[in-house]
Parts: sequence; C-alpha cells; structure tokens
Amino acid sequence: MWRLCGRWWETTGTTAYYDAIVIGAGPAGSTAGRELAVRGHTVLLLDRAYFPRDKPCGGLISHKVLQELPMLPDDLIDQHIFRISVCGNGQTTSKCYPVSLGVTVERGHFDQWLVERAIEAGCTFMEGHEATGIDEKDGLLHVASDSGALVARAAICATGAGPFLICGKQHVPWSPLSLGLGVEAYSLVQKRLDGLEFYLTGGVAGLGWAFPGRERVHAGVGYSAIASRTLTQELAELAEQSGLMFSGASVWPVPGGFPWRRPAVGKVLLVGDAGGFVDPFTGEGVYGAVRSGKQAAYHVDVFLRGGCSDPVRGYVRWARNEFGRVFAVSWFTALLCWKKKYSLSTLLLRDDWIIDGFARLMRGDKGYLQEWEDFAARLLPRLIKARVQAIFPGR
Ligand SMILES: Cc1cc2nc3c(=O)[nH]c(=O)nc-3n(C[C@H](O)[C@H](O)[C@H](O)COP(=O)(O)OP(=O)(O)OC[C@H]3O[C@@H](n4cnc5c(N)ncnc54)[C@H](O)[C@@H]3O)c2cc1C
Repeated sequence: MWRLCGRWWETTGTTAYYDAIVIGAGPAGSTAGRELAVRGHTVLLLDRAYFPRDKPCGGLISHKVLQELPMLPDDLIDQHIFRISVCGNGQTTSKCYPVSLGVTVERGHFDQWLVERAIEAGCTFMEGHEATGIDEKDGLLHVASDSGALVARAAICATGAGPFLICGKQHVPWSPLSLGLGVEAYSLVQKRLDGLEFYLTGGVAGLGWAFPGRERVHAGVGYSAIASRTLTQELAELAEQSGLMFSGASVWPVPGGFPWRRPAVGKVLLVGDAGGFVDPFTGEGVYGAVRSGKQAAYHVDVFLRGGCSDPVRGYVRWARNEFGRVFAVSWFTALLCWKKKYSLSTLLLRDDWIIDGFARLMRGDKGYLQEWEDFAARLLPRLIKARVQAIFPGR
C-alpha cells in the first residue's frame, strides 16, 4: 500500500529518485523525514510495518523529549508524571515534584502521530515495504526494497536495534559491551499507578520498572545476556514486589550508546537505535532518537544545498560533542551498578537525591550533558566506594 503525500523528484522506468530516503519510521526516522521535508526536500519515508504498529516500550516520554517535538495532543497522553517511587527490601522511597517530568504514551499511537506530522510536512510515506540494503554508486545512494529500486542523494538509516545491510556489510548497532536487553511485559491486573515505579530486582542494574498506561501497566526489567540470573527469576521477583501479574514477556535489544562507535557507515547516517543513541544507564532511547533525527536532517540539508561535500563529518562531530561524554560516563555508571550487591539499589533507598537526579535528567532543564555531569559527580564516588567495600569488606 502506498500513501503518496509528497512528490517524486523524478521517476524513470521503475526507479524512483528523491533528495533523501529515510528507512524506518520510528521516532528517529519520522523526525528526520519531517525536518527534511519542512526544509523543502523530496523525502521518502519507508517502513516495513503497517502503522500503527506495536513497539515494546515503557512508553515514558520525558519532558526534554516533549520540548523537541510539536505540541503533543492531550488524547495521546496516558498520564503526566509527577512522582517517582523506588521499592525494594520491603521499603519504599517516593518523591513528588511540583512540575511535570514527562508523560506516558502508548508507543503505537505516539509513533503514528509522528509519522502523520512527517506526511503533513510533505514526506512520501511508504508503509509495509521492507528495505533490504543500501549501496553507494556514482555518488548516489541506492536502496534495494521489495517495491523496486529507490535512489537518493542522501540516505538516513533509522531501522532500530536490528541488523541492516549497508554497502555490502551487515551493520549491527550494538556490541556485547553496549548491549542491554529490555524485557517488556504487560500486566493483566489493573493496578492504578500514581507515577513511575522502580523495583530493585537482582538484574544487571538491579532495576525493574512499572509505568502507568491507560489500559495496561507497562512493566519490564533491564537484563543482560551476561547476567547470572535467568529472565524468569527476574520477572518473578518483579511480579512479587509489584503485585502485578504478567500475561507473557518478550525480550528486546537495547543498544546502549557506546561512546566510541561512529553513527555512520559510508555516506549513510545512522539515527536512533540504529546509531546506538540509547542512554546506557537510564535506558532512555526516544530522546536520542529525536535529537539524532533532527541533527541528521540538518546536516543532510546543508549537503543538499551544496554547503558541504558530505553530511557525515558534521553529523559525527555533532554526535561526539553532544553524546560522546554523556555516554562514556553513563556507560561507566551502568558498569559499576552491575550485580545487585554492588549496585545503586541500597544507595537509592538510602538517599533520595538519586531520585532527584533522575528527575533532573528527565526534565533536562540545564541541558543533557550538564545534568548528567552533575548527577555523575555525586553518584560515581559513592558507587565506587560501595563497590570497593563489597570487594574488601570492613574497609
Ligand atoms: C522493553 C523496552 C522498553 C523501553 N522503554 C523506553 C521508555 O520508556 N522510554 C524511552 O525513551 N525509551 C525506551 N526504550 C527505548 C526506545 O524504545 C528506543 O530507543 C526507540 O524506540 C528508538 O527509536 P528508533 O526510531 O530508533 O527505532 P524504532 O522505534 O525501533 O523504529 C524502527 C523502525 O524501523 C522499521 N524497520 C526496521 N527494519 C526495516 C527495514 N529493513 N525496512 C523498512 N523498515 C524497517 C521498523 O518497522 C520500525 O518501525 C525501550 C526499549 C525497550 C526494548
């Protein structure tokens, strides 16, 4: 099925030409497509799924993401978040804030709304068509797809956490060191949640979550392939602590940003999960998706207007400046939290300033880097001390 809302740049035989092709219409792809179309370029936004499609996600859209997007309509919002609670070891620490920290949404509806904004801006949206790879020839990018040959002067890959073939090589957006697994489960029991709830399970960072949706609770645990506990143990502990019952669970990769990876292959820009823009510590990915989508569009626009010979250099420089240091610190913090007995679990219950730190990260009032540096400056020394004490008890 085709939704033709843009226009061809040119069509010859079975080949369609555009200024830019964006593969994948999640938050990263639809943001990149919208920003390019607004700047007057012909853009094809392509997705293998039919929308609205389901996307396993906690559905938490933080305040700093909302500031990057057009105004979200009220009917998309399941709950405004003012409260964060941390529960574990029979104890609960809870904090309520006077300002909204963000909202929860059903990702299927949220992503569809973003696609509609891209179409409104002038993108041609093609759903239900899979791209099988991108190649570079004579300075143009050729996208192979089940709907024929597609050619563009620039291409943005927003295919999420799965592998994708670029210039003959399989691009996998994660390495064992950057990979986390998110386990998404929906609760059968209708429990009214007043804000975000975190549970100290024994997982890699010792955290499970339950976020309020309109008709269901989105719950899950952060998990790692290298963790010693099984997934079933993790979920059983989350169910016991939260009083939720799960109808089933699915496991999804979370390509936590790895500061040394380059978010581009050849002339193809990688955005969102495909570029590894997920905060390794908090697991927040929609912010990185929207920011990288916007920046990729900006650099492609400069290239298409003849302002530079290649959009990749500027984009990679931007990614290093905005996310490089954050991801390095965040990744190190996540590593320190590995295993419950060394983790931030005990610190979280003892010191509610860590909850304040999460709240500030969600608001992003001072900017992502500044918030992260303030947070890490207080958290890291304590985590290191806790880890040393666990290895050398009595010191
Ligand atoms: C269990 C879990 C819970 C999470 N909870 C949160 C949360 O609460 N808040 C938060 O901020 N982040 C959360 N995240 C992370 C967040 O979901 C992702 O970072 C975000 O969805 C990335 O957006 P994206 O646009 O890069 O990719 P996606 O949203 O995955 O979109 C990729 C799109 O590409 C399409 N596609 C893939 N391959 C092809 C192809 N070959 N051809 C055509 N189309 C293709 C897919 O159909 C899909 O629509 C969670 C992740 C998991 C796994």
